[in-house]
Amino acid sequence: MSSEAVIETQGLTKRYGRTWALRGLDIAVESGQIYGLLGPNGAGKTTAIRVLTGLVRANGGQARLFGRPAGSVPVRKRHCVGVMVEEAAFYGYLSGRDNLKLLASLSGGVSRQQIDEVLELVGLAERGNDRVATYSHGMRQRLYLAQALVPRPEVLILDEPASGLDPRGQVEVRNLLRKLNRERSVTVFLSTHLLHEVEELCTHVAVLLNGQVVAGGPVEELLGSRQVRLEVLTDDPQRALRILRGYQAVNEVRSRRKGVEVYCPPHAVADVNEMLVDEGLRVFGLIPHRETLEQLYMRLTEEDEATPTADN
Ligand code: ATP
Repeated sequence: MSSEAVIETQGLTKRYGRTWALRGLDIAVESGQIYGLLGPNGAGKTTAIRVLTGLVRANGGQARLFGRPAGSVPVRKRHCVGVMVEEAAFYGYLSGRDNLKLLASLSGGVSRQQIDEVLELVGLAERGNDRVATYSHGMRQRLYLAQALVPRPEVLILDEPASGLDPRGQVEVRNLLRKLNRERSVTVFLSTHLLHEVEELCTHVAVLLNGQVVAGGPVEELLGSRQVRLEVLTDDPQRALRILRGYQAVNEVRSRRKGVEVYCPPHAVADVNEMLVDEGLRVFGLIPHRETLEQLYMRLTEEDEATPTADN
């Protein structure tokens, strides 16, 4: 296992009956990263988080937090890891504040000031003394996040933190996580369905499909390194089409009114220009558009979306 990884899995497998939820999951999250686990329904995101937080036991492979087996000590008691998973249950007849106090007392208690601070951070300062039974779904979601923040964690593990929040709530949670990451160096590991959440918040991403990582790495690199759509503005689109169709590095080329549209890896952009100019064409513009995360995600998941995970 890598010594720098705060969270790491290697060949992690988990099956529920005949269904393989994880089929050899390899991820490594380093200190300071905001790491997003992305994938369609049933890809294994929640299972990965539940194994990492010690809520379920894996069938094989390794899952480690700070270099120690993930399930060995209840994660919440370590003080350095804040966990937000669906299983956190609140007492409806108690206030949000009292629920936080109660949960914190299980791991040694917490000061009033600390509770005030987290209620403020998640935007519940004004409703903290109201009974949880009167909270909306989004407010409960904020309370889940608040209880994860109480131990002033070094690492936050969050299962769909923005789920059920309205657009303003989603932006607030994103801003909060960014702030915790920048100002307090909190490492964040989260699962999500929200592509723009990954693009706007995460430094790293792993796309999960059928319990395995199908693409992963720094978000910037992943988006920039694959393929660009290049608009080429030229005086002779038909000839440009013929020339570029013969160039191996070009994956696809289409005719456009004022030029051609080329799909190629970023490193081939300069060659495209050179080839056209060498052939005597005038190139007025080369406009690269990088693949969006949505396009990448759709491409990676479209073929296997319906693949059953049971072994039969
Ligand atoms: P979603 O985005 O819908 O939350 P997910 O990526 O979090 O999905 P998991 O909840 O980890 O996916 O589920 C992975 C697979 O394991 C699915 O096929 C699911 O049906 C199965 N699974 C998860 N939990 C259980 C369980 N307790 N019992 C049986 N099967 C389960």
